[in-house]
Amino acid sequence: MPELPEVETIRRTLAPHILGQTIKKVRVVWPGAFVLPAKMTPARALRGRAVVSLNRRGKYLLLGLDDGSTIVAHFRMTGSFVFYPRPRAGSKHTHVIISLTAGQLHYTDQRKFGRLQFVPAGELAALACLNKLGPEPIAEDFDLEYFAKKLDNKKSAIKAALLDQTIICGLGNIYADEALFRAGILPFRPAGSLKLSELFLLYDAVRVTLREGIESGGTTFRDYKDADGHSGSFQNRLRVYGRGGLPCLNCGRALTKIKVSGRASVYCADCQH
Ligand SMILES: [Zn+2]
Repeated sequence: MPELPEVETIRRTLAPHILGQTIKKVRVVWPGAFVLPAKMTPARALRGRAVVSLNRRGKYLLLGLDDGSTIVAHFRMTGSFVFYPRPRAGSKHTHVIISLTAGQLHYTDQRKFGRLQFVPAGELAALACLNKLGPEPIAEDFDLEYFAKKLDNKKSAIKAALLDQTIICGLGNIYADEALFRAGILPFRPAGSLKLSELFLLYDAVRVTLREGIESGGTTFRDYKDADGHSGSFQNRLRVYGRGGLPCLNCGRALTKIKVSGRASVYCADCQH
């Protein structure tokens, strides 16, 4: 599932290809992938519009158009954008093809949980999925004081709090497990039980882990690719995620795999407390 580093990598690799380009044609192969207001058609919404901005909020990618409207991409499990300099036929998982002045943008999604949502001008601020989101973990508005206040007295597991997009946005299972290992904190500890020194370690670990994920171009297990079709390499730097039963890279003890709040979690019983 694309998390913050994967979506940020798609944004960075896509921007130079599509910014300033005009949409010439839209082909929706599977209508379920493209959500738009009643009585509007994809062609009417997008044709002739120029792409003027490409931003990210949490795990969402936002394509801003010149009339103030926005395409919000929710990638969920396996959604992705790939840019092709020359027009070409889609694969069997290509659901939307956006033809630009030069090149084509393909929206692909094998599991079909993702969506492209067309939001008319002036309506973005009211979009529920975006305005519930907490601060961006790698931005300045996410500070230790805010983090401590949000977790204060919280009984739920710290892992669940990290995955709660209303506290901080962008973390999923991979980067949450990695950040907890880096900070030396057990995933099932009640969030409110962390001491200030531990909160600082975790705050720092979240930011460092996400930045390393972005530097590596994201994590590729099966499907994820950037907008140029290249795989990420953070899978080679994972220390706990996907390594249940394997030796801890720090101490050698076999890593433990359990479920925390319904999500698979891997940790080291010696290195995390
Ligand atoms: Zn260990």
